[in-house]
Amino acid sequence: MNSTGNVESFALDHDRVTAPYVRKAKVLAVDPRFPECLISKFDVRFAQPNQKYLPNDALHTLEHLFATFVRQYTDALIDVSPMGCRTGFYFIFAGDREASWVAALVRRALEEVVAFRGGIPGAARKECGNYLEHDLESAQLWAARFLSVPEAELVQIYRG
Ligand SMILES: [Zn+2]
Repeated sequence: MNSTGNVESFALDHDRVTAPYVRKAKVLAVDPRFPECLISKFDVRFAQPNQKYLPNDALHTLEHLFATFVRQYTDALIDVSPMGCRTGFYFIFAGDREASWVAALVRRALEEVVAFRGGIPGAARKECGNYLEHDLESAQLWAARFLSVPEAELVQIYRG
Protein backbone atom coordinates (compact mmCIF):
# COMPACT_ATOMS: atom_id res chain seq x y z
CA MET A 1 0.00 0.00 0.00
CA ASN A 2 1.38 3.41 -0.92
CA SER A 3 0.98 6.63 1.07
CA THR A 4 -2.45 7.28 -0.43
CA GLY A 5 -3.77 4.09 1.15
CA ASN A 6 -7.04 3.12 -0.47
CA VAL A 7 -8.46 6.63 -0.71
CA GLU A 8 -9.11 6.82 -4.44
CA SER A 9 -9.15 10.63 -4.73
CA PHE A 10 -5.70 11.01 -3.14
CA ALA A 11 -4.25 9.20 -6.16
CA LEU A 12 -5.68 11.81 -8.56
CA ASP A 13 -3.04 14.31 -9.74
CA HIS A 14 -4.73 17.56 -8.73
CA ASP A 15 -2.16 19.59 -10.71
CA ARG A 16 -3.14 17.97 -14.01
CA VAL A 17 -6.92 18.34 -13.95
CA THR A 18 -8.81 21.27 -15.46
CA ALA A 19 -11.86 22.47 -13.53
CA PRO A 20 -14.75 22.53 -13.89
CA TYR A 21 -15.27 18.86 -14.60
CA VAL A 22 -17.31 15.78 -13.70
CA ARG A 23 -15.27 12.68 -12.90
CA LYS A 24 -16.45 9.17 -12.16
CA ALA A 25 -14.44 8.33 -9.07
CA LYS A 26 -15.65 4.89 -8.06
CA VAL A 27 -18.24 2.16 -8.44
CA LEU A 28 -18.92 0.11 -5.33
CA ALA A 29 -20.98 -2.99 -4.64
CA VAL A 30 -23.33 -2.34 -1.73
CA ASP A 31 -23.26 -5.96 -0.60
CA PRO A 32 -21.13 -8.81 -2.04
CA ARG A 33 -24.19 -11.08 -1.97
CA PHE A 34 -25.93 -8.79 -4.46
CA PRO A 35 -23.24 -7.91 -7.03
CA GLU A 36 -25.79 -6.18 -9.25
CA CYS A 37 -26.53 -3.61 -6.51
CA LEU A 38 -24.02 -0.85 -7.22
CA ILE A 39 -23.50 2.74 -6.19
CA SER A 40 -21.30 5.22 -8.04
CA LYS A 41 -19.41 8.23 -6.76
CA PHE A 42 -18.46 11.35 -8.72
CA ASP A 43 -16.34 14.45 -8.25
CA VAL A 44 -18.09 17.56 -9.48
CA ARG A 45 -15.22 20.03 -9.40
CA PHE A 46 -15.98 23.73 -9.65
CA ALA A 47 -12.67 25.42 -8.87
CA GLN A 48 -9.15 24.68 -10.06
CA PRO A 49 -7.42 22.77 -7.23
CA ASN A 50 -4.86 24.73 -5.24
CA GLN A 51 -5.67 27.91 -7.13
CA LYS A 52 -9.26 28.83 -6.28
CA TYR A 53 -11.93 27.69 -3.88
CA LEU A 54 -15.55 28.52 -3.21
CA PRO A 55 -16.49 30.76 -0.32
CA ASN A 56 -18.22 28.66 2.31
CA ASP A 57 -21.52 30.53 2.02
CA ALA A 58 -21.72 29.90 -1.75
CA LEU A 59 -20.72 26.25 -1.30
CA HIS A 60 -23.40 25.83 1.36
CA THR A 61 -26.12 27.41 -0.79
CA LEU A 62 -25.16 25.24 -3.77
CA GLU A 63 -25.35 22.18 -1.51
CA HIS A 64 -28.93 23.04 -0.55
CA LEU A 65 -29.96 23.78 -4.14
CA PHE A 66 -28.32 20.64 -5.57
CA ALA A 67 -30.01 18.51 -2.91
CA THR A 68 -33.36 20.01 -3.87
CA PHE A 69 -33.13 20.21 -7.66
CA VAL A 70 -31.26 17.01 -8.53
CA ARG A 71 -33.77 14.97 -6.51
CA GLN A 72 -36.51 16.39 -8.73
CA TYR A 73 -34.84 14.83 -11.79
CA THR A 74 -33.85 11.43 -10.36
CA ASP A 75 -34.58 9.11 -7.44
CA ALA A 76 -31.03 7.75 -7.66
CA LEU A 77 -29.27 10.55 -5.77
CA ILE A 78 -28.05 9.17 -2.45
CA ASP A 79 -25.95 12.13 -1.35
CA VAL A 80 -24.40 15.38 -2.46
CA SER A 81 -21.85 16.92 -0.15
CA PRO A 82 -19.18 19.61 -0.36
CA MET A 83 -15.50 18.71 -0.60
CA GLY A 84 -13.54 19.79 2.47
CA CYS A 85 -11.11 21.66 0.19
CA ARG A 86 -14.13 23.71 -1.03
CA THR A 87 -13.32 23.19 -4.71
CA GLY A 88 -16.44 21.13 -5.48
CA PHE A 89 -18.87 18.41 -4.47
CA TYR A 90 -19.14 14.65 -4.17
CA PHE A 91 -22.23 13.10 -5.71
CA ILE A 92 -23.23 9.52 -4.88
CA PHE A 93 -25.89 7.73 -6.94
CA ALA A 94 -27.61 4.39 -6.76
CA GLY A 95 -26.54 2.36 -9.79
CA ASP A 96 -23.50 2.43 -12.06
CA ARG A 97 -23.94 5.85 -13.69
CA GLU A 98 -21.88 7.54 -16.38
CA ALA A 99 -20.14 10.89 -15.98
CA SER A 100 -22.04 12.26 -18.99
CA TRP A 101 -25.36 11.45 -17.26
CA VAL A 102 -24.20 13.22 -14.11
CA ALA A 103 -22.87 16.21 -16.09
CA ALA A 104 -26.29 16.66 -17.70
CA LEU A 105 -28.04 16.55 -14.30
CA VAL A 106 -25.59 18.98 -12.76
CA ARG A 107 -25.91 21.42 -15.65
CA ARG A 108 -29.71 21.24 -15.48
CA ALA A 109 -29.61 21.97 -11.75
CA LEU A 110 -27.17 24.85 -12.21
CA GLU A 111 -29.38 26.40 -14.88
CA GLU A 112 -32.11 26.40 -12.24
CA VAL A 113 -29.69 27.88 -9.70
CA VAL A 114 -28.88 30.78 -12.04
CA ALA A 115 -32.58 31.49 -12.58
CA PHE A 116 -33.55 30.91 -8.94
CA ARG A 117 -35.29 33.67 -7.04
CA GLY A 118 -36.60 33.49 -3.55
CA GLY A 119 -35.81 31.66 -0.35
CA ILE A 120 -33.10 29.00 -0.27
CA PRO A 121 -34.76 25.63 0.49
CA GLY A 122 -33.98 24.12 3.88
CA ALA A 123 -32.34 27.30 5.12
CA ALA A 124 -34.58 28.05 8.07
CA ARG A 125 -32.92 27.85 11.46
CA LYS A 126 -34.74 24.60 12.30
CA GLU A 127 -33.66 22.94 9.04
CA CYS A 128 -29.96 23.79 8.78
CA GLY A 129 -26.83 23.66 10.92
CA ASN A 130 -25.57 27.10 9.90
CA TYR A 131 -28.62 28.84 8.51
CA LEU A 132 -27.13 32.34 8.34
CA GLU A 133 -24.19 31.27 6.19
CA HIS A 134 -25.71 31.35 2.70
CA ASP A 135 -25.06 33.49 -0.36
CA LEU A 136 -27.33 32.95 -3.35
CA GLU A 137 -25.66 35.63 -5.46
CA SER A 138 -22.22 34.07 -5.07
CA ALA A 139 -23.68 30.58 -5.68
CA GLN A 140 -25.19 31.88 -8.92
CA LEU A 141 -21.84 33.31 -9.99
CA TRP A 142 -20.13 29.95 -9.48
CA ALA A 143 -23.01 28.18 -11.25
CA ALA A 144 -22.60 30.47 -14.26
CA ARG A 145 -18.85 29.77 -14.35
CA PHE A 146 -19.49 26.04 -14.36
CA LEU A 147 -22.08 26.42 -17.12
CA SER A 148 -19.62 28.28 -19.34
CA VAL A 149 -18.02 24.89 -20.13
CA PRO A 150 -19.98 22.81 -22.68
CA GLU A 151 -21.42 19.54 -21.41
CA ALA A 152 -19.21 17.37 -23.64
CA GLU A 153 -16.04 18.99 -22.27
CA LEU A 154 -17.02 18.57 -18.62
CA VAL A 155 -16.28 14.84 -18.68
CA GLN A 156 -12.73 15.39 -19.96
CA ILE A 157 -10.81 16.08 -16.78
CA TYR A 158 -7.45 16.68 -18.47
CA ARG A 159 -7.76 19.35 -21.13
CA GLY A 160 -6.23 22.60 -22.24
ZN1 LIG B 1 -27.42 23.92 5.59
